Amino acid sequence: MSLANTYARYPVEFVSGQGAWLTDSGGERYLDFLSGIAVNNLGHCHPQVVAAVQEQVGRLMHVSNLFYTEPNVRLAERLAARSFGESVFFCNSGAEANEAAIKLVRKHRPRGDVIVALNAFHGRTYGALSATPQEAKQAPFAPLVPGFRAIEATEIAAAVDADTAAVLIEPIQGESGVNVMSPELLAGIRAACDAVGAALVFDEVQTGMGRTGSLWAYEQLGVEPDAMTLAKGLGGGLPIGALVIGPKLQSVFAPGDHGSTFAGGPVVSAAANVALDVIDDEAFLARVRESGERLVEKLRELPYVASVRGRGLMVAAEITTEAPKLAARALTEQRLIINATGATTLRFLPPLIVSPEEIDDAVDRLKMLEI
Ligand SMILES: *Cc1c(COP(=O)(O)O)cnc(C)c1O
Repeated sequence: MSLANTYARYPVEFVSGQGAWLTDSGGERYLDFLSGIAVNNLGHCHPQVVAAVQEQVGRLMHVSNLFYTEPNVRLAERLAARSFGESVFFCNSGAEANEAAIKLVRKHRPRGDVIVALNAFHGRTYGALSATPQEAKQAPFAPLVPGFRAIEATEIAAAVDADTAAVLIEPIQGESGVNVMSPELLAGIRAACDAVGAALVFDEVQTGMGRTGSLWAYEQLGVEPDAMTLAKGLGGGLPIGALVIGPKLQSVFAPGDHGSTFAGGPVVSAAANVALDVIDDEAFLARVRESGERLVEKLRELPYVASVRGRGLMVAAEITTEAPKLAARALTEQRLIINATGATTLRFLPPLIVSPEEIDDAVDRLKMLEI
């Protein structure tokens, strides 16, 4: 096997997808409640995304960021108009979006610290990894980038001081198991940052693009950040990331400060514009919230589920058995794709277009697994 040994992959090869369904090389169909880890928010091969990408790929694929393209300028304008943002820096992934955010806040307050929450996940590149205080992920790669302080989320507000450049935080921690930050906690951090002139950055790489039932998670929290990072669902399945910059940090970057050759190309931007067309719609988002409530209710009926948490279609269940084993059995025995984020935590990230019947189907498949 010539693939580098960096993932514990399941022995399944997928060849096609449609909506919430994937088909493997043996012709078996799987119900997808992971969505490529919150990427396929519109489901697989959404017809509008496919059409827009096919049209754009035959017209113009790449010109570099020395020039403008219409799909990219339009995407930036829409992201700014539909958020606190004034401008947008594009990149190709979530880690890169966080790299850009870290550079932005460091330039804003030179030599300042970046405070992150314990159990956070911000990506695998060196800056983002240094902002990801998880021993197993960091230890083999020391020395890390200096200037990060990892603090229990509830203690962050008290830890912000005159040396703080920024607090970087996920409104709901994704990779460590859908840990929801309360509006009060985030409001306290917002006030602490304001008191010393530090920036507040939300990592909405996983929570953005309708995942929690609003376009951005912060809209349900009553707290606005000074910048936010996006990726995962932004491109309707294609790789694009973004750093949205609000008024306070708007004038920090100057030409030459940061860049990326591929970033925000016309094809991925065309796909992201379609993703926004579909998701940024109140009726669509209301359905996400209803679907999330249905999923939570149904999961609570399972005998081995102790508790369920989350917002919209970002849901985790605490179970009384080994979650990694259960996720593997769900895949092989029931053709249901879910993932375990911890020893006893299952995570559910179905495509936002999932139907009530598909939600019931998924939970029925979990019921079939005898524990
Ligand atoms: C996935 C994720 C990232 C990293 O994104 P990549 O595209 O894998 O680099 C960063 N932050 C959060 C919250 C994520 O869920």
